[in-house]
Amino acid sequence: MRRGRAPREQRGTRERAEPWAPKTRLGKMIQEGRITSIEEIFMEGLKIHEPEIVDTLLPDLQEEVINVNLVQKQTDAGEKSRFKAIVAVGNRDGYIGLGGGKAAQVRTAIEKAAANARLNIILVRRGCGSWECGCGQQHSLPFQVIGKCGGVKLVLVPGPRGLGLVAGEVAKVILGLAGVKDCRTRSFGATRTIPSFACAVFDCLKRTYGLVTPQDWVR
Ligand SMILES: [Zn+2]
Repeated sequence: MRRGRAPREQRGTRERAEPWAPKTRLGKMIQEGRITSIEEIFMEGLKIHEPEIVDTLLPDLQEEVINVNLVQKQTDAGEKSRFKAIVAVGNRDGYIGLGGGKAAQVRTAIEKAAANARLNIILVRRGCGSWECGCGQQHSLPFQVIGKCGGVKLVLVPGPRGLGLVAGEVAKVILGLAGVKDCRTRSFGATRTIPSFACAVFDCLKRTYGLVTPQDWVR
């Protein structure tokens, strides 16, 4: 019995259906197996220009759409509508990225944001920074951090083990993807502005390494 070609795998995006052809030197080194962990990239302070690098080195990466907005712009041809998406990616074990993308279609905006989030991936320093705890495990943050973005100021306060995430939905999603389990938040300003709020959470997580050089965290 003859049949047509089997349909392509349903899951994954269009880009992922095709084999990756790296465009950067770093991408080629990863495909050749000369770099096998994302830690090496962070240690060398290299900039990631291809989202596939992150997918290759962190195969367990998960994706969450944080927000989709309709943005309108006046042009000579009249009003132009586009969608702006914010996407977070993380491996629930210390790596988190947040990114945005704009496009005429929601789906394309989300794909762009997801690719951008991969390029912005960071390592979060975790620890047991709660005075109520002291277990010494990596379940929270090592200390309190303050982040800002747009009109939002946010404080992440380490919590004792088992507390969970005492936070709004957006912060819960981002902290969860980062692998921070027990934490409280205090926020000030335009906290209902989801993109700014998400970016403030990300800013806090960036500051867990603050001015510490990579040599400090490579053990
Ligand atoms: Zn603890």
